[in-house]
Amino acid sequence: MQFFSLSSGDRIPALGLGTWKSAPGAVAAAVKEAIIAGYRHIDCAPIYQNEPEVGQALAEILKTGTVARQELWITSKLWNNAHAPELVEPALRQTLADLRLDVLDLFLIHWPVAFAPGVLFAQKTEEYIPLAEQPIIDTWRALEACRAKGLVRNIGVCNFTVSKLKALCEQATIQPAVNQIELHPYLQQNEMLAFCRDHNIQLTAYSPLGSGDRPQALKKKDEPTLLDNPVIGQIAARHGITPAQTLLAWGINRGTVVIPKSTNPGRIRENLAAAELKLDARAMAEFVALDCGFRFVDGAFFCGKGSPYTLNSLWDKESHQ
Ligand code: NDP
Repeated sequence: MQFFSLSSGDRIPALGLGTWKSAPGAVAAAVKEAIIAGYRHIDCAPIYQNEPEVGQALAEILKTGTVARQELWITSKLWNNAHAPELVEPALRQTLADLRLDVLDLFLIHWPVAFAPGVLFAQKTEEYIPLAEQPIIDTWRALEACRAKGLVRNIGVCNFTVSKLKALCEQATIQPAVNQIELHPYLQQNEMLAFCRDHNIQLTAYSPLGSGDRPQALKKKDEPTLLDNPVIGQIAARHGITPAQTLLAWGINRGTVVIPKSTNPGRIRENLAAAELKLDARAMAEFVALDCGFRFVDGAFFCGKGSPYTLNSLWDKESHQ
């Protein structure tokens, strides 16, 4: 397994297991299968509503001695309803209790979007809090305090644009270690890649396979698929690997962490093998032409009627980078 070094000196495994949409009843088996196969990195979040089951799997596998806690990298996230500074540590402690851990390796602000306390998914105006009223920097300072207390080893963000990262970096005492964003050949985000390289921020690529199991309501009509793309198919055939492995190898070859989700034992192993693959220069050049700025997870679900958030405010009009 390759690793990437973070600003703290910690090393994050280049490939991890995603757990969004991994159903109760399936996620524990997937986590155990993955760790037995050789995964050392699991990406979690309380909004995936499966952290207690992930925690049970982690406890069971740690008990067997297959792996030691220090060898595992566990990421989780702060949900939108706990941005108020006084709610950050309690939310983190709930996640730690659910995952049955004393410390997280990485704790991320899940979205630059705030909901009223207790609201799982905002539907009307009063359930949203505009960022002007609940500034990210105040939430960030609470994450910094959690790190100072030793509850998390690294802190970072998700779904931040270059402008939001710049603003945070200017105000933060502890710089964000990671930005976890959607990244794949249809959304290559080269300006973001350059910014993060310059500022020692590690990028993690979510939905690296195109998130085909998203609920139908989150899909656009006639949206493109990555796994069926003929160029990717040709590169895969030339290298004697699968399209999924090609996509994951592309991400790691660019220096980004990839966190494909699977609950299928064969695909869990197939994806892990991608961490050892190298694509040739011709393949990397062929990928360039596939960039079309397409987001599978565009956050439109936060921008409905009555929301202070819009697609323009979420992405600062950077969606075509
Ligand atoms: P992915 O791009 O990882 O795609 C998951 C889909 O691909 C599933 O349908 C899975 O099916 C299928 N799949 C997995 N491996 C293969 C393979 N080898 N061949 C063919 N199909 C395959 O989507 P996600 O959106 O889940 O993204 C990955 C992870 O990123 C999430 O699970 C989550 O942890 C994180 N994430 C974070 C976000 C954030 O806001 N920070 C937003 C979105 C995701 P099956 O399970 O049946 O194998």
